[in-house]
Amino acid sequence: MKGAVADNAARIGEAVEANFADQVRFTAELVGYPSLRGQEHTAQDFMARAFRDEGLDVDRWQVRIEDLEHLPGFSPVSISYDNAFNVVGSHRAASPRGKSLILNGHIDVVPEGPHDMWNSPPFEAREKEGWLYGRGAGDMKAGLVCCLYALKALKSVGYQPASDLFIQSVIEEECTGNGALACLQRGYRADAAIIPEPSGGTLGEAQTGTIWMQITVRGLPAHAAYAEKGNNAIKAAFRLIAALEVLEEKWNAEKDRHPHHAHLAHPINFNIGNITGGEWPASVPAQCVFDLRAAIFADDDIKARSRELEDCIRQAAAGDPFMGNNPPQIAYHGFLAEGYILENAEEPVALLEACHKRVHGQELEGRAGTGTTDARFFGLYADIPGLVYGPLARDVHGFNECVELDSVRRITETIALFVADWCGLDEL
Ligand code: ZN
Repeated sequence: MKGAVADNAARIGEAVEANFADQVRFTAELVGYPSLRGQEHTAQDFMARAFRDEGLDVDRWQVRIEDLEHLPGFSPVSISYDNAFNVVGSHRAASPRGKSLILNGHIDVVPEGPHDMWNSPPFEAREKEGWLYGRGAGDMKAGLVCCLYALKALKSVGYQPASDLFIQSVIEEECTGNGALACLQRGYRADAAIIPEPSGGTLGEAQTGTIWMQITVRGLPAHAAYAEKGNNAIKAAFRLIAALEVLEEKWNAEKDRHPHHAHLAHPINFNIGNITGGEWPASVPAQCVFDLRAAIFADDDIKARSRELEDCIRQAAAGDPFMGNNPPQIAYHGFLAEGYILENAEEPVALLEACHKRVHGQELEGRAGTGTTDARFFGLYADIPGLVYGPLARDVHGFNECVELDSVRRITETIALFVADWCGLDEL
């Protein structure tokens, strides 16, 4: 760290601390917007107001499939994008001196499940013993808010970034990544990007890719009293799922060929995340539909892996007397996400290591993730190193999701120092 940053590092830390109660209150309020897929718009309005109050230029636009579907990294969707708005708050330096930076977080959250399994209502954030609870608190509203409060801290000590800083609040990270893709399509570029997903203060070095696939299985309905005359679509789906489980273990057994994930016990997870089937208790089910989420290794070819999944399903069906003549239908409306390995990022990584060490008193550790993030868009399709680095969270996508507030404070301080050094500082 150099010049104005080294001189002001302690004051920046104090400013993060001084603003922190307000940061927690703001994060809690953001958790209160149930920004489930297709319902992100009011949370995005809230972010747009906050960016405007901070003096940022606000760009809010509707994400449209037709703008994106020809681009690499696009994932197909079947839902309406009527409420699909991205928001970017931009600080543009009058005469930029440093390097530019994107801070990117996603506003969307995953479904919360039955509320009676939560200790407190999922969309009413609660603070308890140093953790903030609520759906999205960890994944990743706290991280998104870190970006805004890192900038606030710099302003609190009389400075602003000397280069361009873009804070992006994007939709659709949990299902397609089309929100981050839309930021690229709209022209946002920078010399580096930080994505404060809940990495527990580690740096994402590699991440798996993700394929979502929907499989429709047909059956032959019959009265349950003569079930032998029909063919049960739900039971047939179970046979396909069993074949997919075998394939999952086959892929995991290949892990030594994929250096970034070889050290993990079970890097590849398939998940049957949704299943609906049948029509009537006394009718043999005529149809069953299930959704598969499959991970692929960071260095995998996504087309080849998709084909393997399809072949697995087709082969399992071919051996079945009914499915052999009525093959299951396969559709894609969700992630077709390539894996990502952080490369060509020596400069931002060295700086992040220095900032992390100053704040945490420990070396920054790298970590290979077994899920995907929006970092891939920056790295793979725009040549912008995408650094996944954020606070510590527990039970993301689970009941009683929460984020550790002390880690949120430290990550905010680390990002503030990073911005100060990377972008440079101008007096306000
Ligand atoms: Zn996330």
